[in-house]
Amino acid sequence: MEKIDVPRLINIVGEDNVKTDPADLYIYGSDSSVHSARPWVVVRPGNTEQVQAIMAFANEEKIPVITRGGGSGMCGQTVPVKGGITLDMKRMNRILEINPSDVFCRVQPGVVDDDLNHALKPFGVFYPPTPASSRIATIGGEIGNNASGVRSVKYGATRDSVLGMKVVLPDGSLVTLGARTRVEATGYQLHKLIVGSEGTLGVVVEATLSFVPIPKFRCLGMANFDRLEDAGQAIADIMASGVVPSMLELVDSVAIKAVNKTMDLGLPEVEAVLLYEADAMVKEAVDHEINAMQQVCKKHGGTGLTSSYDAAERAKIFMGRKKLFPALSKFSDVLSSTSLADDMAVPYSKMAETARTIHEIAERNNIIMTAYGHCGSGCMHTKILMEPTRQDQWESARTAVAEIYEYVRSVKGTTSAEHGIGISKASAFKAEKSDSLDLMRNIKKAFDPNNILNPGKLMDAHEDWVTATDLRYTIA
Ligand SMILES: Cc1cc2nc3c(=O)[nH]c(=O)nc-3n(C[C@H](O)[C@H](O)[C@H](O)COP(=O)(O)OP(=O)(O)OC[C@H]3O[C@@H](n4cnc5c(N)ncnc54)[C@H](O)[C@@H]3O)c2cc1C
Repeated sequence: MEKIDVPRLINIVGEDNVKTDPADLYIYGSDSSVHSARPWVVVRPGNTEQVQAIMAFANEEKIPVITRGGGSGMCGQTVPVKGGITLDMKRMNRILEINPSDVFCRVQPGVVDDDLNHALKPFGVFYPPTPASSRIATIGGEIGNNASGVRSVKYGATRDSVLGMKVVLPDGSLVTLGARTRVEATGYQLHKLIVGSEGTLGVVVEATLSFVPIPKFRCLGMANFDRLEDAGQAIADIMASGVVPSMLELVDSVAIKAVNKTMDLGLPEVEAVLLYEADAMVKEAVDHEINAMQQVCKKHGGTGLTSSYDAAERAKIFMGRKKLFPALSKFSDVLSSTSLADDMAVPYSKMAETARTIHEIAERNNIIMTAYGHCGSGCMHTKILMEPTRQDQWESARTAVAEIYEYVRSVKGTTSAEHGIGISKASAFKAEKSDSLDLMRNIKKAFDPNNILNPGKLMDAHEDWVTATDLRYTIA
């Protein structure tokens, strides 16, 4: 461990909330990415004053601080590339206010997404950004990554639901950003800037979030396609038709095979499955939208069209998509499912071509890749299934990732739809945003002149993700 005044940290948060044990440092050194590094110490603040005191100390000593929620980020956002203090925010997990009449709630950053939605349910409302990791993802982490989920096609990403926040700046001062109102035109919207800043600008200690009514009616439909291109065209046509689906998901043939192999759900072995959902307070509105989406699917050769309002039936239809992530992890004994080039967004008209291109790139580079995701939002997820103990597989992954991002830029897509940049996507991010990087560096400097908050990420991350840190795997 580097020289750090641990007693001073103990003085701020108490002995129980400072961890220096090598096993703890190992655990806190990785997230859901391929990366690994060690913090010098883990500190678990319980309130805003403690966060302020820790930041003031770190700023004075120029010690890196990595703010961490659930640690489920997929790109190395919470991996401490330069060591320092990992600030575990999970003790700050209180829901401070649910205000149905003004349609907002105030929460501490360590509140887990599912816990918030559980608390909101009796009020007949829900907080919609909800990523698939909602059982572990915290509101602070969702803000850090601008997370989104299956229903973001209708209800938006985290940035759309954040009205305001309290933030501790690197020097330990506390600022209140945004408002409690639905609209605000009062200068720069700095709270929106904090969303998606990956813990590089400040530590969120309180968030004011809007929520929406739980719709009375939800209907989920499914269509099978023999050709990926037809499913892609159906997505583009649905989104251009004026219908606003509350979910529009693509599942490709590799993903279908993975689910069938590991779960015996008997999904049809076609090139693509589309899942589409409509929701509303009035059933006729849902009928209308589901019918419109079915017509588009039929027009493009969709078969096996089914749909249901019944919650249990809907859960059954959605099961294949829901279990996809674990299915990919269990695809083979020797293959690991890695999050690399994993969540681009592309224009709707390029959705099918993107999925096809991903498969071609994978084949050319001797790895397996899936293509699936929240296509109604333009988001295309992938996973690379590879043998992580083989050096040649990492070389293949490096080439495949570079080729994918080059293609994404060529169709005017973007590097990340929701998982963020961290370390893994830094070079693609820099290539995409080359003309605004200096502006971003100046913003970072204005917030954090000593560069203590999550250094070595985003604009300042290593160009080569393979060698940027240790890998979470041992290469034979
Ligand atoms: C199985 C699985 C499924 C997933 N599905 C989705 C999905 O559907 N959609 C999606 O968007 N993502 C998804 N993710 C990625 C990830 O779970 C989300 O981005 C989630 O929002 C991260 O939350 P967290 O609490 O784990 O954040 P962490 O990983 O701990 O942190 C994420 C970022 O936020 C910063 N941060 C954390 N707390 C604060 C704070 N208080 N103040 C300032 N910055 C802070 C961190 O420094 C870091 O940069 C998935 C991950 C897994 C493992």
